[in-house]
Amino acid sequence: MSMPRAPARNALAVTTLIDFVCRSCGFVEHADLNASHNIGRRGWWIWVTGARSTAPVLTLTA
Ligand SMILES: [Zn+2]
Repeated sequence: MSMPRAPARNALAVTTLIDFVCRSCGFVEHADLNASHNIGRRGWWIWVTGARSTAPVLTLTA
């Protein structure tokens, strides 16, 4: 039986910096940065497809 390998000294630092790994292509990024990219792309898509708000129009009555 072999002993389990000791984790690298900087393993914790690496996992906190790079905590997103794409399962299909292996793309690596900080999870918060990746999330911001996803949110940005979603907003861009809504913008370019010209999505309209379904919220009722506010009418101000004095
Ligand atoms: Zn990917």
